Amino acid sequence: MTCSTKKNEYDTIEAAEVALIDTRIRFLGNAAVNVYQCEICGLWHLTSRGVVNVKLQEMIDSGALEEEIKKFEWRERYT
Ligand SMILES: [Zn+2]
Repeated sequence: MTCSTKKNEYDTIEAAEVALIDTRIRFLGNAAVNVYQCEICGLWHLTSRGVVNVKLQEMIDSGALEEEIKKFEWRERYT
């Protein structure tokens, strides 16, 4: 079943959180801040509304997200 929201779907919250963080690292699409379980399809989507996801916030606070962004930009430039 395809969800009518037409958003990317993830089977688990873990997969959605990985995608959320990856989206932030690569600056893809709009700035998603959290994941939620869809009432229509039962799968997980990203959302740009609401509170910031705890794992994402931890990565921001610890500087880990910044590090990942630098690594990504480096790879884009030199590989
Ligand atoms: Zn859905």
